[in-house]
Amino acid sequence: MILGGFCTQACTYCNVEHGRPNPIDLAEPGRVAEAVRALELDYVVVTSVNRDDLADGGAREFAKTITATRSLSPHCQIETLIPDFAGKSESLNIVLEAQPDVLNHNLETVSRLYPYTRPGGNYVRALKVLEHASQHKPKLTTKSGLMVGLGESWDELLDALQDLRRVECDILTVGQYLRPSMAHLQVSRYYHPNEFEALKSIALEMGFGHVESGPLVRSSYHAHEQSNAFATATSVTERQDSHDS
Ligand code: SF4
Repeated sequence: MILGGFCTQACTYCNVEHGRPNPIDLAEPGRVAEAVRALELDYVVVTSVNRDDLADGGAREFAKTITATRSLSPHCQIETLIPDFAGKSESLNIVLEAQPDVLNHNLETVSRLYPYTRPGGNYVRALKVLEHASQHKPKLTTKSGLMVGLGESWDELLDALQDLRRVECDILTVGQYLRPSMAHLQVSRYYHPNEFEALKSIALEMGFGHVESGPLVRSSYHAHEQSNAFATATSVTERQDSHDS
């Protein structure tokens, strides 16, 4: 996680500290790159807190981190789990031009619950991040995630899945919300593993290329395997299409 430990937003389910962030650490991209090289990673997920205090929302630091990591570890795949950059497409473009392998932006919850759970976020804006990425870089793999158990209905969940497919999101993660402390939002209910399986089947039917759905699934859960599975599924579909035509 880059750009410090203080988030400028205060989602009611999140355990990250909120408050005034520290100034940008200009040496951080180089240190991340060194760490990836030292650990000999094949796959890394780079994420950050929201930095609404910065004009570009921290987009340049994401880009610098991608570039520095790729220069020291050319074979390492890089997934970026980005904030919404306050909806500024010029900030998103800075990240896209650095060419991450996967661009992830979590929708997190259904439209109706945004004011209660993500007061600084915006459902439509989150979808637009993914839509812009898909349109700007059609070959880029996009990814998003939802938490269940925040008070949503089943139909609202299906609407959210449809919205994600409409913006051509490729990979989906669905996991159970767990309350970090008594000060955080209550869990509305715990989904049965069968319900996670049902969501996975429905999402695959809708056209997602890969879906991880289970109680303990998190956004970066098996991220490397998710990306590989999506790439394999896509190449099989492309081979079938070329065979059929
Ligand atoms: S924007 Fe992300 S890091 Fe910040 S409070 Fe919300 S979920 Fe937590």
